[in-house]
Parts: sequence; structure tokens; C-alpha cells
Amino acid sequence: MTVDALDREICAAAWDGPGGEPGAVAPPVFQTSLFTKPTFGEFVRQQAAEHENFVYSRGTNPTVAFLERQLALLERGEAAKCFGSGMGAVGAVLGGLLSAGDHVLFVNNVYGPTLELARHLERFGVEHSVVTDPRADLAEHLRDNTALVYVESPGTMLMRLVDLRALTALARSRGIRTAIDNTWSTPLFQKPLELGVDLVIHSLTKYVGGHSDVTGGAVVGSAELVREVFYRGHQLFGSVMSAMEASLVLRGLRTLPVRMAQHQENALRVVEHLQRQAAVTAVHHPYADPGPDAELVRTQLRGFSGLLSLELRDGTFDAVSRFVDALRVFRIGVSWGGYESLVSSPVRADNAERLRADGLPAGLVRLSVGLEGADVQVDDLDRALAAI
Ligand SMILES: *Cc1c(COP(=O)(O)O)cnc(C)c1O
Repeated sequence: MTVDALDREICAAAWDGPGGEPGAVAPPVFQTSLFTKPTFGEFVRQQAAEHENFVYSRGTNPTVAFLERQLALLERGEAAKCFGSGMGAVGAVLGGLLSAGDHVLFVNNVYGPTLELARHLERFGVEHSVVTDPRADLAEHLRDNTALVYVESPGTMLMRLVDLRALTALARSRGIRTAIDNTWSTPLFQKPLELGVDLVIHSLTKYVGGHSDVTGGAVVGSAELVREVFYRGHQLFGSVMSAMEASLVLRGLRTLPVRMAQHQENALRVVEHLQRQAAVTAVHHPYADPGPDAELVRTQLRGFSGLLSLELRDGTFDAVSRFVDALRVFRIGVSWGGYESLVSSPVRADNAERLRADGLPAGLVRLSVGLEGADVQVDDLDRALAAI
């Protein structure tokens, strides 16, 4: 699938914010913590609406605001707010919008630290439950006090899809807000706001930054909801993206369309290759024989990113270790979505029970397919499979 022409234009947009030298092709980095005002009256006026005025860089900053506008345009939202990390964005949504007595329903496999935060919020009277089956009848899991349905699609680890139109229609009919972690798809390959989701969350640390040199997060949605997140979740919790970090993420955004096209091309080759290997019993990626997901792939996704997982026939810790240690192009590490190929696995010597309880198969290995080229990536995987 190809990248939308409008999205290419948004990613390549020139700086048109305040204070730039005309003709400079890179955005100015407003390395300042505060902005003085010419009169006390002006100061009072601007401080009363800090979400739209440059008063203090814990709130708003021109370099960050330019990135926020571009992200809002890409997601077809009215507004966006950036954070110092993806978890900063998740924390601002959960911590900023929920109150004691509220219930959150998490749908599909969800990023581990997000669920850990939900467990922490129980101390403050916020309840939650998790439905890992992406095809479950969600109506059965909603409660009278459900205030938010939080979904990942494709989901963490197994990349299964949830019917987002059905989910948002149900939530809307009950007056329940919805949020999605859209990191896997990037703003290019899935537009959840167009499918009825209220808030889109991103870890910009992954593909949008793209160079593994910055952490960042974002929340995108209606002006009203993003404003609520700004005043309760951003201003008060203080997970701030700096101007320097925003300029690095903007640098990443410039090449996002070409990088995603290449990640996709490489990943599809890797998926097809792995599916032919006897030592691999399953490949998890929306492109890999999506079965019941096929229709959702067609109606929800505009492209495929490069994060996938596979199941080794020998799922023991020793076999996984031999496979991972034999890789050279895929380097061992956390995170994903950078230019470099990475490998990790949830398999440990003593956690088979835990994995089963979390609905994760034995021998699961996660690959982030980078930009080195499909030929060397496939060769690397072949060598490692032979080493098991
Ligand atoms: C990495 C990640 C996050 C958290 O982002 P950070 O920038 O690491 O804080 C959230 N959701 C998903 C799906 C992620 O992969």
C-alpha cells in the first residue's frame, strides 16, 4: 500500500511559525523556558489560555507547537499535544481524564507499562479490566462506570486487529470515550479518528522519530478533548517535550513516508520468507495470512509497518537464546521503529506459565525490521534459524 499524497505534503511542510529566518529549511529551536510579554495586560490575557499562547515551555513552545500541528493534520484531528515520551502521553490520558470510581476497559494485547500504570491507578480508585481476545463481545465487558475504552490495533506482540468501527459505535452509544495506541501504524498507515476513535496516542520514539535518538509521545483528537488532556494531564504531570526533541522528531517526520515504504517492503519480504521455514510455526503480522483479520486489514489499515513476531518450533529459552545470539543484522534491544533492525523476546527461563496466562505463545520472538535491506535481513534470519 502507498502513502497518501496529502500526508507526504504534511510531512514535508516548511516552517511557518513565528520567528524563523525566511528561507531557513529547518525549524528554529526555541531553546527558552519562558516568553515575556510587553504589558501586564497582555501577560494576563495570554496566561488565561496557556494552551494556545507561548507563556512557559512546560506548556507550549513554538518548535513543539509546529510538530503538534503537523501530527494533528496527519491524524485528521483538530489538535495534538506532545509529551516527553509515549508513556507521558498514556499517563496524561489515563491520569488526566479518569476519576476515582471510573472503569477502563483495555481491549486486545496492550503495551505492558500501560497495563502496569492501570494497576497503579487502582490505588486512586480507578478500576480496569482487560479483554485480550480482539473478537470478544465488548458489550458484555462494559460496566455502568466504564469511562474509557482503550485499545491497541494492531495489538502488542501478536499484532491482531480489532474492529474499530464496531468498537467506537458501541462506546459512543453508551457515552463512553475511546482511545487507541496507534504507534504500530504511525499516522500514515491508520487514521483512527476517521474510524470514530476519540483520542489517538503515539510513542514518537518509534517510527516517527525513526532514528533511535529521541523519546517522545503525542495525543491527538478534538480541540476540546486535547485541551482537557493539556490542562489535567500535561500541565500537571509535566511530561514535557523540549524544543530540541521536537526538532529531532520533525527531522524524522520529513522522511517518514519514504522510511515507512521501505520498512513495509522489507517486512513483507521477511514475513513471506519466515512463513516458508520449517523451524517457524507462526508469523504474526497483519500481512501474514491474516485469516479473520483480512477484512479489517483492508478497511482499517493503509499500509504495514515493520514490527512482527514469530514462533519458533522449539520454544525453549535455550533455543530462543541460540536464535537471538546468532543474529548479526538484528541487534538485541528494547524499543523498535528505528532505522536499525532489532530483536527481543518475552521468553525467559522460568516464565512459561506467565506467558500462557497472558495469552502469549511459547517461543515468541519479536523483530523490528529496519532499513538495512531485505536480502541481508533474510540471510541473517536463515543463519540464526540454522543455529537453533
Ligand atoms: C514504546 C511504546 C509505548 C511507550 O512509548 P515510550 O516513548 O517508550 O514511552 C507505548 N505504546 C507502544 C505500543 C509502544 O511500543
